[in-house]
Amino acid sequence: MTIKDAENISFCPYCGSYAGYYTKDYVRGMTRYFYRFDGSEADNSSLYDMLYHTKGAYAYCANCDKRLFKMDQMNQMEG
Ligand SMILES: [Zn+2]
Repeated sequence: MTIKDAENISFCPYCGSYAGYYTKDYVRGMTRYFYRFDGSEADNSSLYDMLYHTKGAYAYCANCDKRLFKMDQMNQMEG
């Protein structure tokens, strides 16, 4: 399959599934999870601020896990 084909993909060419695809994203770092003194959850809106998030380079079928195509370079620049 060429890159051109990948741009127009609407289903998995391996298993025929329309379930979609996923990327293997990498997350690393530490985080702080806040509690109130009664044990309830406090404001954790910044829970992921300290994490490094890297988008996966390839798209995989959500059904059969076969590698489908390379992600757009622009998408990898996010985060
Ligand atoms: Zn598939």
